Amino acid sequence: MAISDGPGWTTGAEMTNEAIGRSYQRYYGWLLKLGLVRSLIVCTSIATMTSVLCTAAVMLLMPDSRAYFWYNMIVAVASPLLSAPGLALIAFAMVYKLDETQTALTLAAETDALTGVANRRYFMAQAERAYADARATGAAFAVVMLDIDHFKAINDTHGHAIGDEVLLKVAQACAQTLRASDCFARFGGEEFVALLRLTDGAGAASIAETLRKTVAGLAFESRTPPSVTVSLGVSSYLASSESLHDILNKADRQLYAAKAAGRNRVMTAANAMRRAS
Ligand code: GH3
Ligand code: MG
Ligand code: MG
Repeated sequence: MAISDGPGWTTGAEMTNEAIGRSYQRYYGWLLKLGLVRSLIVCTSIATMTSVLCTAAVMLLMPDSRAYFWYNMIVAVASPLLSAPGLALIAFAMVYKLDETQTALTLAAETDALTGVANRRYFMAQAERAYADARATGAAFAVVMLDIDHFKAINDTHGHAIGDEVLLKVAQACAQTLRASDCFARFGGEEFVALLRLTDGAGAASIAETLRKTVAGLAFESRTPPSVTVSLGVSSYLASSESLHDILNKADRQLYAAKAAGRNRVMTAANAMRRAS
């Protein structure tokens, strides 16, 4: 990501923009919480009270104007009553639309467009949080890397569109297999990654095996391709001396060990060692 190389101090304009942004966020959150009808009532009431108070202040300062007391009061009440609801409605509609747009943008920034699961950026943010929690509280977490076997051959034999369909189906099936607290993301190409919270190495190996079986059991429309398999590598948080990068690299190494061992299998550090001995 490009990092600004401008001066390290905050300018007055930036501070003003920040202050406007903060108060705007507060104002719009407040309007949304109130809802349309209550927003209209509150905004109109505030406008009416302000108008009456200003008119009263003018009448106090200008004794002559008191002769028109009721006339002034009617104008002070009627003007905001006529204009404030319409203006409040426009403000509410804009805020509502902005909120919808912000929600859609956030979702788009966190989602992989083809498969609908989380993207790599969202996964990394979640993994960093899980890693920080693990360091602070010792809460275990594990990572499963998953790669579709011979995917290039699926593309070459059945076409890119079927390849895309396979990616979508595999991603959706795996995401649905996991708990809501886990995170399943497309890491890139035909490679996916799962973040399993509060899960140790043994638990992660068993979940990885469930993912493997889920994919192997997928039925495709018109039976093209006839079957799809995945290879999986598992690693878990063991000690705070390991970085998140180390944990992801370990899972990647196990994934490549699973490929080398014949594909359509789960490889963990433990079973890799068993095979080696
Ligand atoms: P292995 O079993 O060793 O993983 O072999 P593989 O064929 O799955 O792996 P390889 O890296 O040789 O090929 C991956 C292919 O995935 C190549 C690339 O064109 C394809 N691919 C990557 N992204 C997409 C995508 O979004 N849609 C489709 N249809 N194909 C994609
Ligand atoms: Mg592959
Ligand atoms: Mg790959």
